[in-house]
Amino acid sequence: MYQQNVLETIGHTPLIHLSRMTADFPCTVLGKVEAFNPGHSAKDRIALHMISEAERKGKLKPGGVIVEATSGNTGFSIAMVSAIKGYSCILTLTSKVSAEKIALLESMGAKVVICPAEVEPGDPRSYYSQAESIARETPNSFYLAQNFNLDNSGAHYASTGPEIWEQTEGKITHYVCCAGTGGTLSGTARYLKEQNPAIQVIAVDAFGSVLTHYFQTGEYDKNQIKPYKVEGLGKNIIPDNLHIDYVDEFVQVTDKESALRVRELAKKEGLMLGYSSGSAMQAIMQLKDRFKPGDIVVALFPDHGARYLGKVFNDDWMRAQGFLQTELETKPQEHPQPVAKASPAPVYVALDQKETPGELAPYPYSYEAMKKRYKTYYRTYRIKYKKYIRQTRDSWKILGE
Ligand code: PMP
Repeated sequence: MYQQNVLETIGHTPLIHLSRMTADFPCTVLGKVEAFNPGHSAKDRIALHMISEAERKGKLKPGGVIVEATSGNTGFSIAMVSAIKGYSCILTLTSKVSAEKIALLESMGAKVVICPAEVEPGDPRSYYSQAESIARETPNSFYLAQNFNLDNSGAHYASTGPEIWEQTEGKITHYVCCAGTGGTLSGTARYLKEQNPAIQVIAVDAFGSVLTHYFQTGEYDKNQIKPYKVEGLGKNIIPDNLHIDYVDEFVQVTDKESALRVRELAKKEGLMLGYSSGSAMQAIMQLKDRFKPGDIVVALFPDHGARYLGKVFNDDWMRAQGFLQTELETKPQEHPQPVAKASPAPVYVALDQKETPGELAPYPYSYEAMKKRYKTYYRTYRIKYKKYIRQTRDSWKILGE
């Protein structure tokens, strides 16, 4: 018994009891771990479905070029499906995406174009506009447009929804899912609500995204847009794949809590997951008082943590964001306790708080030592970043822009 190709291994991901982190919950909390897909994210499902549907509808011809604007995961899945089906692909990404994700995409043969993150969606420099113009100018190409292509939510309606329904034997009471394009949320929710309309669907959003305000008021308010760190979560546009009719509630979570929560998932549940999985878990923690005995709560965890080793799983990055307030929060057992001359309880502060930590005994994690390390870290980061900008400019040239 063997698979014809890697695409046959997409889906049928496990549903895992989060027994350690939710030990004091009155209900059962389960995680649908999409990292078990071959491309390590839920996006394998939509890439395969959108491409297969485009072929079926005659929009994608043999040897064609697939173009997409992506935060990284969809790109990897598209590159994987393209490799098997014989297409080439060009992906536009925002400069917010991690260097690891870019390297992964390129390793699968994708051509990557980096676009500025902090521009409006309609700006010709935005990753959406860039994808559109590349698709317009490239012969025999097809722009998948995951935000607006309804085969995105269709993929989850056809697979993720039925899987969760079967895995919980129809007993699921709450579905908690991040909203980006809205595909994973709405497609799954539609299937589940069709089976049992009483199932509560809770969307998880970032502070700085327009979706929660849109859900609450029906209005797109660009004043809601603010920079935030979690990748894949939230939007600065209203995607067609977000069907709010299937959503009961929106919960917003912070960058810091999401980051700390995903680290906790790794340490306590042995699940190495992506940043937005921490957001979904944080939402469940925020809703704890709501759940009752007998409830079956399912959180969807979109991707794997390996892609975030330079970010949420990197203590330097965490400290630079001010997410780790004290040294004790990172490695409590591994380091000797610092000795304070002036105060019996030395306080370490996040570097972005611009305070000095008081007089401390020489210690490898002293404020000064850390500052030096950050300097090196940022220098390396800046060099890497410049390199990507250069590569992007080259790509634009190649594309005749
Ligand atoms: N988390 C991650 C890591 C993602 O890549 C995405 C997709 N942008 C999401 C969450 C949100 O999923 P969806 O687009 O289906 O709403």
